[in-house]
Order: sequence, then structure tokens, then C-alpha cells
Amino acid sequence: MSLEDLIERIRREAADQCAAWSAADESTQAREALKTLSAWGATAWTVPMRDGGADNGGLSPADTVSVRAMASLRDELAYQHGMLDVMLVMQGLGSFAVACGGSASLREELLPDVAAGKRVAAFALTEEGAGSSLSEVATQAERTADGWVLTGSKTFISNAGLADFYSVLARTSPADAERPSFSMFYVPAASSGLRTVNFEVMAPHPIGEVHFDGVALPESSLLGKEGQGLDLALGTLARFRTSVAAAANGFARRALWESKQHLQSRSQFGKPLAANQGLRFDLAEMDTRLRAAQLLVEEAAACVDNGEAAVAEVARAKLFATETASWICDRAVQHLGGLGVKRGNIVERLYREVRALRIYEGTSEIQKLIIAKDFLARDEF
Ligand SMILES: Cc1cc2nc3c(=O)[nH]c(=O)nc-3n(C[C@H](O)[C@H](O)[C@H](O)COP(=O)(O)OP(=O)(O)OC[C@H]3O[C@@H](n4cnc5c(N)ncnc54)[C@H](O)[C@@H]3O)c2cc1C
Repeated sequence: MSLEDLIERIRREAADQCAAWSAADESTQAREALKTLSAWGATAWTVPMRDGGADNGGLSPADTVSVRAMASLRDELAYQHGMLDVMLVMQGLGSFAVACGGSASLREELLPDVAAGKRVAAFALTEEGAGSSLSEVATQAERTADGWVLTGSKTFISNAGLADFYSVLARTSPADAERPSFSMFYVPAASSGLRTVNFEVMAPHPIGEVHFDGVALPESSLLGKEGQGLDLALGTLARFRTSVAAAANGFARRALWESKQHLQSRSQFGKPLAANQGLRFDLAEMDTRLRAAQLLVEEAAACVDNGEAAVAEVARAKLFATETASWICDRAVQHLGGLGVKRGNIVERLYREVRALRIYEGTSEIQKLIIAKDFLARDEF
């Protein structure tokens, strides 16, 4: 199915699909969302074409994931329901290091299943002492005669407890080395010594801690070369960060739509709310800022798909789209009055769902540092 047809199908079917599970508990919602995504064929877009992913029609090379495709899908899925959005992207984010650094046999074993939604992926970088600053990762992988032993803890890991495997960033230099070096590992969830502890965040999102208590791994679990871990981790973020901005646009688009419906259908003081100039000014600003965010996403996605590093373009898109979406969802709550904060209202859900996007995959402040660095290094303006 083409990307356009897939998005059309999501538009037609998502509301009914979500209604069937959105009142269930969080882990049921997550599993049902993934089942729905794989039945649609959406998960196939999270894996390179070479490894069993969807035929991307030349949007990006066969050995990588198309950012334009991920962005279009996330924009639509976030419009429909945040759980669909997160379950889609985690398949890509969690498996991309395997696609880039896994052996041919590991790729063959895992990635077609990820593309089919049969194996759940997770991406484990963050630790209690290492959030924005990944070079402070302390999880240690030590060499043994026939592989590695992994010891340490990760936190804020999406799909913790649900995943079949984790792509894990660990330190492979001695703890007291002057210049630390890091590597990525493929870690099956069933490994002896791995345990997870779940917690809740403000919107439904499967998440928790992952602990590695001396997990023995074979040599083949090393992704890429020893010492390449930060490159693999940052390369994954670089490829998927634009799609966070696209998801923000999807949440914002839905909030704006809900706002418009409400302002046109509810009357106060004898006229529709939408007849008030103050509220029209608000709608105009929301619409304009959303369009600007969409253009930044289009620019960043095209650059990355065309093989450019586009670090500043991606950072601008993520910063602006996620901050704008938070603001738009906040305005939509205001437009709905009391209904905007009533549990069960779509706008109330959007307000909670959108918030984490300004934090994960690089906070807004980190995006500003990237943009400022690029700006200061430029000779032309
Ligand atoms: C819903 C959700 C899902 C997540 N999923 C995953 C996942 O699947 N895998 C994973 O590995 N991680 C995940 N994370 C973790 C996420 O990537 C981190 O929360 C994020 O990188 C920020 O790290 P931190 O929370 O430790 O904040 P910190 O790095 O401690 O930052 C705290 C505050 O200080 C600011 N700050 C930090 N450094 C600077 C600086 N130099 N200049 C200015 N301001 C600064 C930050 O912007 C922030 O506002 C998830 C987080 C959330 C909320």
C-alpha cells in the first residue's frame, strides 16, 4: 500500500479502532495500538526497505528509514491518538541501531518481525545521572572471554516491560578512563539479570526503568564497532527527531480543529463564540504558527532524506513545532472553557499528550544550544 493510501486508511479507521481500546489499561492500550498499526501495515515504515520494511518509493535509500514517511505517519497518528504515535515510533527508534550496526544475521532475525509488529523494540539511553548529557552514561559493559557483561540501570525507557529487545548505550571504557568510550548493544528482554519497573507519566505512555544486573551477552550483541555507541545513538536521534516535531504538529492540528468546532457551535451572549474578534485573532495565530511548524518539518525531513546532516534544520523544527503545539493545545483548552479540562475531553488529553515532546529526544533547551552553535558558526546571514 502506498504511503498516501495508508494515511487515508488511518484517517478512515482510527477513530473506531481507538474507541475499542482507549479506555483499557495502559499496557493493553499499547499492545492493541501496536496490533492496529501492524494490521494497517504502518509498522513496515519503521524499518529500512533492505531489512523487510515498506517499499518507500525512493523517498530515502533502501538501507535507512524515510524521515518524510515517518513524519507524515506521525502527524496523522498523533492527530488520532498519542498511543498510536508512540507505539509506531518506538519500533523505529528501538531498532534503528540494529539496522545500522547489527550483523546481517541479526538484522535478518529481528527486523522483519519489527516491521510486522511481532517484536517490540525499545531504545535505552537515559539514566538517572545521564539525561541531556549522554557522555555521563554509567551503565558498564565489560568484556569477558566470550562476550560482554552489562551492569547498570536505565530510566524513562519507553516500552520498558513491553519490549522484546532493547538497544542499549553502555560505557565500554573503564569507569575511571580519562576519555570515556561507549558502545551500543542488542539486549533481548528475556536475558537473565534484566528486570523492569514501570511508572506512569502524565499521559498514557508505556515507560519505566530497565535494570541490568550482570547480564551476559554474546559478542554478536555488539552493534557497530566497539566505541561507536555515541555515533549510533546520536545518529538514531538525528533520524527520528524530525518526526517528534511532526507528531507535535498532529496534536496541534487536532487541538485547532476541536477548537474551531467548539467556537463555531457554542453561543454565549447571543452569538457564536467564533464571532468574537478576540477568539478569531487567536485562531488566526494558531493556524499561522502551525503552518510555520509544518514548513519547518517539511524542510528538515527533506534535508535528512536527501542525506544532509541538517542538524540545525532538525533542531529548529523540533524546537518550534513542540513549543508551538504546547501553546496551541493550551489555547484550545481555554477556548473550550470548563470542557477543556474535563477528563475524557479530547483537548484535555491533547494538552497532556503533547507536553513530553518538549523533553524527549533532546529538550527544547538542547535544541536551542544546537541552533545557536550553528548560527554563531555561520559566515553568512
Ligand atoms: C515520555 C518520555 C519518554 C522517554 N522515552 C525515552 C526512551 O525511550 N529512551 C531514552 O533513553 N530516554 C527516554 N526519555 C528520556 C528523555 O530523553 C530525557 O528525559 C531527556 O533527554 C532529558 O533528560 P533529563 O530528564 O535527565 O533532564 P536533564 O538533562 O536533567 O535536564 C533538566 C533541565 O535542564 C535543562 N538543561 C540541561 N542541560 C542544559 C544546558 N546545558 N543548558 C541549558 N539547559 C539545560 C534541560 O533542557 C531541562 O529543562 C523519555 C522521556 C520522557 C519524558
